[in-house]
Amino acid sequence: MTNSEPRGYHGIDIGGTKIELVAFAEEGHELKEVHRERIATPGTDFAEFLLAIQGLVGRADKALGLRAPVGIGLPGVIDSATGRQLSSNVPALNGRAVAHALKDALERPVAVGNDCQCFALSEAQGGAAHGQPTMFGAIIGTGAGGGYCVEGRLLRGANGVAGEWGHWPLPAAQLLPHALPILDCPCGRRGCLERYVSGPGMSRLHQHLGGGDETPLAIVAQARAGSAIAAQTMALHADLLGHALATLVLTLDPHAIVLGGGLSQLAHLYDQLPAAMRRHLFPGVRVPPILPPKFGDAGGARGAALLARQQLSGH
Ligand SMILES: [Zn+2]
Repeated sequence: MTNSEPRGYHGIDIGGTKIELVAFAEEGHELKEVHRERIATPGTDFAEFLLAIQGLVGRADKALGLRAPVGIGLPGVIDSATGRQLSSNVPALNGRAVAHALKDALERPVAVGNDCQCFALSEAQGGAAHGQPTMFGAIIGTGAGGGYCVEGRLLRGANGVAGEWGHWPLPAAQLLPHALPILDCPCGRRGCLERYVSGPGMSRLHQHLGGGDETPLAIVAQARAGSAIAAQTMALHADLLGHALATLVLTLDPHAIVLGGGLSQLAHLYDQLPAAMRRHLFPGVRVPPILPPKFGDAGGARGAALLARQQLSGH
C-alpha cells in the first residue's frame, strides 16, 4: 500500500425520507465506523439535494481527516445507457444522472449502486454470510430486490440489474391454483413477484383470501390468536416466497440466502421457507441456509462504502 491510496470511505444510504452518511476508516481489511450523520431527504429539488450531500461529505471528510471516496446506495433502477435514475421513490432524483452530478459536485470518485445491492454486499463482508463462497441478499420490504455476491464481491451484471428477483413474474403454476389476480407493477410489467411477496404484497394476499387490510405483523399476530384466514395468508405467502427462492437456487445456487427488509423480522419465515423451497425443488438439491441479517437496514451505508472500495480499489 502507498500513501496515495485511500484509507477510508464514506457510505451514503439515500432513502425516501432520510439520508444517512457513515464514514469508515480502513484498518487492515476491516472498515471501522468513525462518524455518522443523518438528515431528512430534500423532497423535489435536485440542486438542494446536491448541496445537502456536499455538506454531509464535507463534514465527514473533517471527521475522517481524509478526502475519502464516496459510495452511494440509491433506491430504484439506474438506466445503464444514460446513467439516469429511473423509478426512484426520491422525486428529486427521477430522470437525473445522479452519479455524474455527484462526481462533479464532490470532485472525487463516486460509486453508485442500488440499496438492495448495498445490503447484500454488507451481509457478504462481515455480515451474516461472511466467508460463504457465494451468497444472495434478498430484501423483502416495501418492495423485493436483492444482490448476488461471489467471494465477497458484488456481481452487478451488464445492466447493473443482477439480483432483481422481485420483478420475475409469478408463474401460472402459482397464480392459477389460488385464483390470484395478475397485478400491474410500477416497473411497467405485470404479475411481478414483488406485488405478492413484499410487505404490501402479503397484505394483498390476506385481502384476497377474505381478510382485512392488515400489516404483515398484524396478520402474524392474528394467526397466533387463532385466525384461520391469517394462517392461510402466512402459508400462501411462504409458499410463493419459497417458490421464488427455489427458482433462485436453480439460477444462482447460492451457498446462503440472507433476508433483509421489514419482513426479515418475521421469525416464522426462517422455519417455513426451507420446507417451502424443498417442495419446489427436485430431490438431490439441498436448500441453502436462510439467515437473518446481521446489519439489516443499518447496513445500507456500510454496503455503499464497501461498494466504493470494491469499485475504486479492486478489493
Ligand atoms: Zn415489476
